Parts: sequence; C-alpha cells; structure tokens
Amino acid sequence: MLFDPRPKERREEMFDREEELEAILRGMGEYPITLIIGIRRVGKSSLLKAALNEYQGIGLYLDARRLYAAGSGNISASVITDELSRILIGRGRFGFLRGISIEKVNIGGIQIKPRDMGFMDILEVINRIGEKTGHKVILAFDEAQYLRFYGSRGGKDLLAAIAHAYDSMPNLGFVFTGSEVGLLHDFLGLDDYSSPLYGRIYEEVEVRPFPRELSEEFLRVGFSEVGLNVPQDDIKRAVDELDGIPGWLVEFGFNYWKKGDPEKALETTMAKARSMIREELLELERRSPRYALILRAVSIGLSRWSGIRDYVEAKSGPITNARLTNLLRNLEKMGWIKKENGGYRIIDPVVEKVLRE
Ligand code: ADP
Ligand code: MG
Repeated sequence: MLFDPRPKERREEMFDREEELEAILRGMGEYPITLIIGIRRVGKSSLLKAALNEYQGIGLYLDARRLYAAGSGNISASVITDELSRILIGRGRFGFLRGISIEKVNIGGIQIKPRDMGFMDILEVINRIGEKTGHKVILAFDEAQYLRFYGSRGGKDLLAAIAHAYDSMPNLGFVFTGSEVGLLHDFLGLDDYSSPLYGRIYEEVEVRPFPRELSEEFLRVGFSEVGLNVPQDDIKRAVDELDGIPGWLVEFGFNYWKKGDPEKALETTMAKARSMIREELLELERRSPRYALILRAVSIGLSRWSGIRDYVEAKSGPITNARLTNLLRNLEKMGWIKKENGGYRIIDPVVEKVLRE
C-alpha cells in the first residue's frame, strides 16, 4: 500500500523509481561502493531495502543513525560487530549460510566467537561468505554520515577497514545512503587526497523528489488502492503544499484516507511534519544554536548573506564572517539549504513552512 508510512521493502510496494532501483542493483553488482543520496523522506531507505531484497546475493542492512543513537555520542566497534553477528547468526538459522559456521569462526586457525571479533575480522568473514555463496555480500549502511562518529578519529579507522576491504576483499560490496549529502561525501572522502578511501571508484544514485505530474499520480494511485475517489482539486492543492517528497505525500494520503477531509488531512500532515522537523532542529541546535536562527532567517525570505547576518546578530549577538560562512556551508552539506543565483533557500517547502510559523 503506497500510503503505508513505513519505509517500503519491495519493488511492488513502491511508486515509480524503476530507474533508481535498477541503478542501485547495477551498483551492487558491478561496483565495490554505491552511494544513494537525497534529502530526508525522499525514499532512500525504501529503495535500499527494495534493492537488498532483490539482490541475488546476501545483503546486510545497518542503520548508522540507530547505531549512533544506541551509543553515547559515538559508535563503537562492538556495536557494529554485535549487530552484524546478530544478523549473520539469524541468517544462519534460516539456512542461508549452509556450511558456514558463524557461531564460531575459524580465522587463521584460531576459533573465535563473532562477539570477540573486530570490525576487520568480521569483514573477512563476510568476504568468505561471499566467496562461498558465489555472490558478493553487500554491507549497506543507511544514513552513513553518522559513521563519522565511529571510534575516536572521526571514523577514520572504519574508513581504513573499508579501504582495505575494497582493495583485498572482492566478495564484499558496500552501499552508503545519506540525507546529509555533503557530510557523507566529506566523511567518505572518495575525492579527498587525505582520506583512506581516496580515489576508489563508486556508483552514485541520486534520489530526487517527484516532479509535479508524478506527485499527483502518486496520490491518485494511492487513493485508488484504498478505494477512495478524491477530487482532482484536493490532489492539486496537496501537491501545492507538500511538493514531491514521498514522505509527506504518504502522510497526507494516509490522513485523508482516515479522516476523509482534505483540510484536516493537510492539518494533520503539517502537525506531524512540525514534530518531526522540530526534533531534527533540536539535533541541529545541539551542534550550534545558530543553525536554527539561520534557517529561520532563510525561511522568511532573507536569502542574501548580509540579511542573514543582520537577522542572526539581532537575535544572538555578533558573529564573525568566517563563522557565518562556515555555518551556512554546513547547512548546505546537511541538505537543509541550497544556494541558487547567489541567494539561499530552504530545500524542502514543508520545512520552510514549519520554520516560518
Ligand atoms: P528516506 O530514507 O529518504 O528518508 P524513506 O524511504 O524512509 O525515505 O521514505 C519516506 C516515506 O515515504 C516512507 O513512508 C515511505 O514509505 C514513503 N516512500 C518513499 N518512496 C516511496 C515510493 N517510491 N513509493 C511509495 N512510498 C514511498
Ligand atoms: Mg532513511
């Protein structure tokens, strides 16, 4: 059902996205590293899960944001290895891994339990599983920019392990998704000379909001699935308000279906958006209280650098040019704002509305 608010897990559950899905599957098959990028709620996790489900070999899904939330300000090696061994042991029971003992693994003649293994050891095991099964095993990290909180060196140790795997474990592939696209690129450093992953080739799949026509079609198909005949005007209005971001369209469709009233559905959708966005803003404010001020400035139409500076200074005192430039650049990297024709704007119109309230 299109209006199911959870991430989709199969191609049949998804609207459109055939091209993206094929590109991701091609990436998984042919490239050691695949990136799936796009703003929040655009459908990355859904695409990743659908692709992992169709992938001919074994795919292992890890949510880096959840790993981060489970720790206290960082991601430890043991959180990742625990999670991976849990998944592997689970798969083993289902017979996917016939002939491979995961409860105890023999590495270089030494029997060790997965719990005691380091990240590199577990990559070795996964690589061997790939070799045995005849297909690369895909290790997928959702919201992978959070991996920069791995260990104590900004995730460099994890990158080094991944670089090693890239160079010497041909039966292992990686997928990384990221809503904070700039942060993800910075973290992986595929184009950064000082990164362990520098120069590795990768496939990048960008997931974009649906254009107008497809957004309307998305709602029409969703409504017809639940047996509702919804006036074209209601659909047009919803897309005017919510744009083409599937997460918001699903929310609207679901609420309309439950309440049978376009006004109430839009209201409930905005209320939900408000609470989700507030939470994300809180996370931002923990990094710097000025992020929220800057976003608010941009949302009320202060698109130029000087206007934003005046607003921020009026609210919270002097700020240096370098600091403001830096914060603006970070907001761009985190996928909140975009620079266009010399001015800034909020990328997601729903976020813009919530900020303006
Ligand atoms: P992201 O990981 O980019 O934040 P999700 O995959 O979690 O986005 O999707 C956000 C919401 O939108 C979920 O409710 C999901 O079910 C829905 N969704 C995303 N893409 C599609 C699609 N192509 N068809 C139907 N629903 C979708
Ligand atoms: Mg996601």
